[in-house]
Amino acid sequence: MTGDSPYLFYQSRNPRPYLDRGEGIYLYDESGKRYIDGSSGAMVSNIGHSNPRVLAKMKAQMDKATFGYRLHFRTHPSEDLAAKTVSMCPQGLDRVFFVSGGSEAVESAVKLARQYAVATGQGTRYRVISRFPSYHGCTFGALDLTGYEPLRAPFAPMMEGMPKITAPTTYLDRDTLTEEERGFRYAELLREQIEEAGPETVLAFLMEPVGGASTGALVAPDSYYQRTREICEEYGVLLIYDEVMTGAGRTGKFLAAEHWGITPDIVALSKGFGAGYAPLGAIVASSRIVEPVLDAGGFQHGFTYAGNPLACSAGLAVLEELEEQNLIENAARMGDVLKARLEGLMSRYQFIGDVRGKGLLLAFELVADRSTMEPLPRELNAYTRLVEIAYEQGLIIYSRRTRGGYEGDHFLICPPLIVTKAQIEEIMNLLEASLSRFAD
Ligand code: PMP
Repeated sequence: MTGDSPYLFYQSRNPRPYLDRGEGIYLYDESGKRYIDGSSGAMVSNIGHSNPRVLAKMKAQMDKATFGYRLHFRTHPSEDLAAKTVSMCPQGLDRVFFVSGGSEAVESAVKLARQYAVATGQGTRYRVISRFPSYHGCTFGALDLTGYEPLRAPFAPMMEGMPKITAPTTYLDRDTLTEEERGFRYAELLREQIEEAGPETVLAFLMEPVGGASTGALVAPDSYYQRTREICEEYGVLLIYDEVMTGAGRTGKFLAAEHWGITPDIVALSKGFGAGYAPLGAIVASSRIVEPVLDAGGFQHGFTYAGNPLACSAGLAVLEELEEQNLIENAARMGDVLKARLEGLMSRYQFIGDVRGKGLLLAFELVADRSTMEPLPRELNAYTRLVEIAYEQGLIIYSRRTRGGYEGDHFLICPPLIVTKAQIEEIMNLLEASLSRFAD
């Protein structure tokens, strides 16, 4: 039952068993083996698998119409989902544009920003400053904004003139500066970069509020969020939050931006927004940005499948489920429980260097030396070994080895937001068994 297809390929050879079915936080392969989906896939399945409300809503929509091109018909699912999304976002984010995935959302955000600049007489602004390390997607534009060299290198040279600043990773200056000072210091890199590039050329600053695949749930000091917002305002630079992974409740708020009282100019959503029921994403922006673009002839952008009624019916049911089951509050509460349990492992396993994250976007990092955060030797391949051991035990976790200046094996523990305390114990039992085997 395991093995690779002779026809289908993904990034690499990766023999896995066939998936049979899913239920709540569990997935089953065709042999009947049960797995806990401890990473919600790739931080996607926020409301768990086979949610009856979502399935019922999708089936009802399927019986009516699965597709109607958006330029030919209005649809209730798309308009209802847009209204629901706005109602869950902070005030000021009041317009929605649908896409089918995270990379599309990031590129759409940048293109909207660019058209806004042109429509408002700021056509010299084109540079998007992003960060290192970061992950924003795999299409050409989103990849160019991604601060992760091994992914970019095979395609170099990419676009030109898109600078990157260093994000305040846990390694940097943490012994010499207070958290507040660290936040200010790294935010000031944004100002320096804007000045260096020429403020009249800078369109936007793009960041993940809590790092995802690139850094493993890295949270910046509070002062970083406030100061970067201020700097953007000072220079008329649009602030784009990539909330593809953090959005739709994952961190214990609908948007992670709410933790710091920040209202970005444009937000990119996907992953938990469709929650694995449909390829779905969106950008949410303020009318202040959207209206001038529409007045100047329209947003010259749009994907064929965007806003299709089937995907939107799924998205609407996902948001209703988040709200009615209080899943965002549950993410905050269960996130605290899980984080405390992960921190508890640090006394048993010296090679756990750091536990971090917000809500149910949590990660730990394995190191050779906790005091210096020196990474484990690459040859150990810790990031694949521990994942394989856990997989054998029936626990799915998500890992990355970040390379190219910021080194580290980190592991995301991000179960669906429906997770219970008892299920957290199940996760922890399997994780502890996996770590013990890894340490042998
Ligand atoms: N932005 C972030 C923060 C992400 O985590 C991801 C996916 N890991 C993307 C963008 C790209 O999303 P997709 O794979 O759906 O294109």
